[in-house]
Amino acid sequence: MKPNRYDYLVQQMRGTLSEVIESETDLLAWTKKYRLINGLPPELPPSQVAMYNDLSPEVVVMKGTQIFISEYLVNLSLWALDTKFGSRGNILYTMPTQLQMDDFAQSRIDKAIEDSTYLRRRFEKAFLAKQVNRTRLKRIGGSSLHLRGSDSLKQLISVDADIVINDEVDWFTEDTVAWSKERLGSAKQPLFRAVSKPTYPGYGIHLMYQNSDQRHWQIKCEHCDRWQVLDWEQNIVFDIDSETSSAYNIQCLCVHCKQILNRLSANGEWVADFPGRQVHGYHLSRLISPLANLKKMAEDSLNITDIPKIQSFYNSGLGLAYAPKGGHLSESELRFSSEYSFEPATSGYGGVDVGLKLHACVIQYTEDGLVVCQAEEFDDFSELDIWFKRNNLRLVVIDARGDPRATLEWTSKYPGCVYRWSHIENMNDVRYSEDTQEVKLNRTVLLDTMYSKIRDGQLVFPITIRQVPGFISHMRALVRELVKDQRLNRLIPRYVGAAADHYAFALAYSVLAAAHDNTSPPPRLTGRGDLVSAGQRSGMSTSSWTGSGSPRGWRVR
Ligand SMILES: [Zn+2]
Repeated sequence: MKPNRYDYLVQQMRGTLSEVIESETDLLAWTKKYRLINGLPPELPPSQVAMYNDLSPEVVVMKGTQIFISEYLVNLSLWALDTKFGSRGNILYTMPTQLQMDDFAQSRIDKAIEDSTYLRRRFEKAFLAKQVNRTRLKRIGGSSLHLRGSDSLKQLISVDADIVINDEVDWFTEDTVAWSKERLGSAKQPLFRAVSKPTYPGYGIHLMYQNSDQRHWQIKCEHCDRWQVLDWEQNIVFDIDSETSSAYNIQCLCVHCKQILNRLSANGEWVADFPGRQVHGYHLSRLISPLANLKKMAEDSLNITDIPKIQSFYNSGLGLAYAPKGGHLSESELRFSSEYSFEPATSGYGGVDVGLKLHACVIQYTEDGLVVCQAEEFDDFSELDIWFKRNNLRLVVIDARGDPRATLEWTSKYPGCVYRWSHIENMNDVRYSEDTQEVKLNRTVLLDTMYSKIRDGQLVFPITIRQVPGFISHMRALVRELVKDQRLNRLIPRYVGAAADHYAFALAYSVLAAAHDNTSPPPRLTGRGDLVSAGQRSGMSTSSWTGSGSPRGWRVR
């Protein structure tokens, strides 16, 4: 049908009208009016108001967790859909996997719609008009919200978007960001938003933030009127109870006048390190979130040798990229004791590395923690039978790969006592299976656990262990590095080493075995006073603090 002048006029009027509607309902006003969270209008942290008002083409957000950024992204999506942003109102929302995206669509987006009378009506109308409203595609009056995993994006080659949202971009496959940006090619007012918890320095969102104008949230102290960016080490002060390792008296203090500082103060502003750069970058630490559990963060911050914990403290807590130091273990990091010598264990835990030789370690719980009692090399499995009996072994973990057949045969002689270990890439929690006598765990986690215990002084070595040929060099052979996983296309931590490392694995297996048996008494921490203030380093056993260049996050009070 040929359009006549009347149709043209109506179209013009509609266009003008929608422009008026758009300008009246900016994202912030729309959110306050139409979004209800738990039945109440949302209360935004002061730091996020500016983000809601920022409609510049490219915004990247490097963030900790529990800071309401998901809400921001949900609001942005629904607002754009509802108001036909950029005259089409097409949004492409992407998460690392379709599984995550579907879950998010149901738990966050569908919930947001259900919770709001206005949105429910809008979608009901769309539903009545027979517009699809499935998990992966939501439509209102010709506008579409596509919800896709980066693993299933390529099916959307024909999508023209006005807004592209990349959520948890550090876990995306590599070309996803560039590909999804191309979908903005025909947009009148293209908006690109990338958000993630950071992982490693110079990678993913951290790299994007580095290239942005790098905004920091500054707040003003109400006592001395001076401005500051909240910093864990500068502003947060606490004590710890050395017995329980719990933190108390946690306070946020002004870095200048040392009086109490309200970390949630509305008296704040974003300040860019590089004003004028095209990409706007926001860094959001959990310190500026009302949900922050400072006590838990303080306790995690002290776990300087527990690599996964400290990684999570920086990434999820502070929203900062972090790479744990992965250099060779130095001999001085081993806690030697002359009180112990090599002798058979009375109740031991064993680990066996299977190669040309069999390398075996035995450890045992004592008042000083786990002590290494044996480190030996054998030629065949029959010697392991004698070793097993001599050390009264409660549990043994053995490498499944070295000589699979002989290992299986030997293992089957000790049901419930010997387990074969295999590496599983994505398995960060230990999994035992009784019937097959197997234990599965990621190799990096296996070694992290042992090296953490060593650096933490929880493993004690008899001085005479220096005389065991190869022992120290095996322990030092492995270096923790970030390597590119070709399949996942991202950086992952991995131990690499060219030299022989048999005893390192044998000891790691015995540590795994000891951890499984929870009938044993827990290791007792030594060298710590009954109650020490956080700042009093002298009260700590020095070995517990190896690896920290400077006191982290705590101050002498
Ligand atoms: Zn002050």
